[in-house]
Amino acid sequence: MPQVYPKCKADHQLPYIDAQGYYWPCCWVPNHPNIASMRRFLGDRFEQLDTARYSIDEINSSEAMQLLEQSWADGTFEPCLRFCAKPFDDGSRTTTDDMFMIDLKRKERQ
Ligand code: SF4
Repeated sequence: MPQVYPKCKADHQLPYIDAQGYYWPCCWVPNHPNIASMRRFLGDRFEQLDTARYSIDEINSSEAMQLLEQSWADGTFEPCLRFCAKPFDDGSRTTTDDMFMIDLKRKERQ
């Protein structure tokens, strides 16, 4: 079964907010034609990524983000499978390893 090794879960990776104010876990997906793929994949939930309406904490715990993360187990969201099909350099990390969302508030204080 195809699996995604999400680089956006690594602690040195940063999320991306596009010019329309939508939050993305990385800067690879929010490019043509992946934006349309994400909108199709999330449907109405895409609006849950709008930073004008939701905080970063709310977005990180939104149904939209949960759906995206669930897709990593079986590669059902094709752009993530394409960009993150290979394990990290040491080959030890998978979606079930001890990874965590980036704490943007912590980064702001540094
Ligand atoms: S392509 Fe998908 S899994 Fe990879 S870093 Fe971006 S959002 Fe995360």
